[in-house]
Amino acid sequence: MIEVIDLHKSFGNQEILKGIDLNVRKGEKVVIIGPSGSGKSTLLRCLNYLEVPTSGAIKIEGKSFLDEQGKYHEKRVAELRTEIGMVFQSFNLFPMMTAIENVMAAQIKIRKKTKEDARKTAELYLDKVGLADRMNHYPSQLSGGQQQRVAIARALAMRPKMMLFDEATSALDPELVGDVLQVIRQLADEGMTMVLVTHEMRFAEEVGDRIIFMDRGVIVEEGSPEDIFVHPQHNRTKTFIQRVL
Ligand code: ATP
Ligand code: MG
Repeated sequence: MIEVIDLHKSFGNQEILKGIDLNVRKGEKVVIIGPSGSGKSTLLRCLNYLEVPTSGAIKIEGKSFLDEQGKYHEKRVAELRTEIGMVFQSFNLFPMMTAIENVMAAQIKIRKKTKEDARKTAELYLDKVGLADRMNHYPSQLSGGQQQRVAIARALAMRPKMMLFDEATSALDPELVGDVLQVIRQLADEGMTMVLVTHEMRFAEEVGDRIIFMDRGVIVEEGSPEDIFVHPQHNRTKTFIQRVL
């Protein structure tokens, strides 16, 4: 479903991703862990072309973001991106819109839905993330955990084929983390294809079909949760796991 071949990404003369190969199957949950600055967010952002790779190929269900000449193709990028939902550490809601307006906006603008249709879908997904009673609140009137659940509902309302989560709970107070993880867990159980970056190792272990350990721009090691958390092979993985568990 997601195919990454020899992906490189540099900022200036600093190479951040140094040849990443990755395949994600339909329905698979892949969790990326690794030290700060190892390139996890950069990799995730390359998957939907929020960052343009320096070299290498990314395909989503066999489709490329590039044209036949290998050039950046705005229309293809826009189209493919609608298939991929992304949730960030910062919730990025529109502050002047209510929860339901936030969930409706892209459906109307990008999916060209009618207002009534978008509203129905928004209600469905806000209910799904447990916010049926908060639809008309503004982001400033919601807790961090509620705002993040609005952001998840907004992504889901586009009916993406896969979801990317970049530390979706890192900005939250500890007591609010559980509700957001519960929503993600439910999505996982429903069979959504997901790539997650997280510092929540227990959650990674529970939800991940496969764990990828990244360090300094490369995939050092990958395997089942048991492979990585219980029987890590590489010293860098062992050191990291000891530090975070
Ligand atoms: P963290 O766990 O702290 O979120 P990360 O693994 O997600 O770290 P990235 O955000 O991918 O790491 O950053 C990897 C490196 O790339 C860092 O050294 C960062 O400073 C650099 N970097 C990321 N984005 C840019 C950018 N837009 N311009 C320049 N350098 C960048
Ligand atoms: Mg990051």
